[in-house]
Amino acid sequence: MERTLTIIKPDAVAAGHIGDIIKIFESNQLTIKAARLVSLTKKEAEGFYAVHRGKGFFDSLTSFMSSGPALPMVLEGDDAIARLRKLMGATNPANAEEGTIRKLYAQDIEHNAVHGSDATETAAFEIAYFFPGIDLA
Ligand code: GDP
Repeated sequence: MERTLTIIKPDAVAAGHIGDIIKIFESNQLTIKAARLVSLTKKEAEGFYAVHRGKGFFDSLTSFMSSGPALPMVLEGDDAIARLRKLMGATNPANAEEGTIRKLYAQDIEHNAVHGSDATETAAFEIAYFFPGIDLA
């Protein structure tokens, strides 16, 4: 069993896709262990995406991520990190495979519906970022 951090991003929350996306997680044996609807401040979004600081899209990305409610969740399942990434599809929905969350619900390379941790270490950091010290269900 492995845990990963996903975020249903502000674009997908605003478009009413929380239920659609959770349905995909649940029908792929990714169990929700924690969830929290948050309205990130710009500073909180910058802290989460600190690895991208200095990139051309950093300001735009962190403004988007702090533009409205988002839903971070801890998901658990076999090979959860890699399987979530596959279900999400490519960063740019134009390159995402049919049936992936981003192909279905993303608007563009920035407003791309979901986040998913990309490795064990980032999952640990990202879970602690949104769920510090909680006893996971
Ligand atoms: P991910 O792991 O697929 O989410 O992609 P990255 O870690 O490379 O980037 C983090 C997030 O930054 C992406 O999910 C997008 O929301 C945004 N992003 C990535 N690349 C670009 C880009 O070239 N332009 C813009 N505007 N946003 C980007």
